[in-house]
Amino acid sequence: MPKLVICNWKMNGDIDLVSQFVEKIDDKNVVIALPNVFIAYVRCKFAKFKVSAQDCSIHDNTGPYTGEISAKMLSTLGVEYVIIGHSERRKNFFTDSAENVYNKIHNVVKNGMIAVLCVDDNYETLIDEKTKGLLKDNVKQVILAYEPMQSIGTGVVPKTSEISQTLLKLKEKYFVQKTIYGGSVNSSNVNNILAERDVDGVLVGGASLNLPELQSILQCNNMV
Ligand code: PEP
Repeated sequence: MPKLVICNWKMNGDIDLVSQFVEKIDDKNVVIALPNVFIAYVRCKFAKFKVSAQDCSIHDNTGPYTGEISAKMLSTLGVEYVIIGHSERRKNFFTDSAENVYNKIHNVVKNGMIAVLCVDDNYETLIDEKTKGLLKDNVKQVILAYEPMQSIGTGVVPKTSEISQTLLKLKEKYFVQKTIYGGSVNSSNVNNILAERDVDGVLVGGASLNLPELQSILQCNNMV
């Protein structure tokens, strides 16, 4: 059975690339986390793939929050998934605290969407007790994405048995139904990763911006 392929475009792509993907990607197991500016366009074009946002505001009511986009706004556009707590937002460029992460997940689930919560090997620190309770109450609306820091954008992928062990631990500890792996996934390694039992899907960054590369990944996924 095909698994879930979530593509994280980060701050990349332009309207031409988006148009090519709208035309060529019609796989229902793929979710593309687009920059917010492209989301309405993709909805208007009736794209067949599912859409994710890459983040949302800690605020869910309208108000004086310049530059922010709420989970409610995203859900009214037909967005189904929101990535929360990516390492680039927690540490590299911004400072998403555990409390912010809690509030964002809360807003995502309240608005009927699925939160894709990113963690690395430090998951016990990243997921505080309050967030653990929130996950337990919303097991169907949270996916845990295990993204080891050393694997993001580096070409270094852990042994697939290690990936599977970590995902099983995450399921046992947080009760979520789906756990996925992210970090340097491409068409050459995706087969082996998806073959592991506790891998319910992959989060693909760089490789998902290349249309033929993504098509090869999806082809592998459809043969799992
Ligand atoms: C990511 O940053 O979420 C990611 C998976 O990136 P890449 O696939 O490029 O390593």
